Amino acid sequence: MVAVMIFAFALAVVVYFIPSIVAYARRTQNFLAIFLLNLFLGWSLLGWIGSLIWALLDEKKGYAYVQIPVAAPSNNASISPQPRAIMTAPPTPSSTAVFCPHCGHAVGPEDLFCAHCGHALRQPPEK
Ligand SMILES: [Zn+2]
Repeated sequence: MVAVMIFAFALAVVVYFIPSIVAYARRTQNFLAIFLLNLFLGWSLLGWIGSLIWALLDEKKGYAYVQIPVAAPSNNASISPQPRAIMTAPPTPSSTAVFCPHCGHAVGPEDLFCAHCGHALRQPPEK
């Protein structure tokens, strides 16, 4: 009878610490935090399920440490200064050059209508 009770207690402890065991087996980054959550909030079903989900979803130690150095240079290489300068450069280099918004033909800065397509470049002055 005593042996059965000890066995039942041991089984309950094992079941209680399943999230910590999973976290330890997967060598997760936040094993200590998962263990503490499991220890203090495992008595509530929500805390137990939460720590178990955390243990299952948490990234492995090796994965995170390998991923950071690999990802950093590739990000820097993709964002080279030359494409950024082209992107931010205005399409018209000087303020005096005006282009028709309708057809893109070059027009004079004082022109009211586009000489190419006749598009009204600005509102006619009020009389
Ligand atoms: Zn035009």
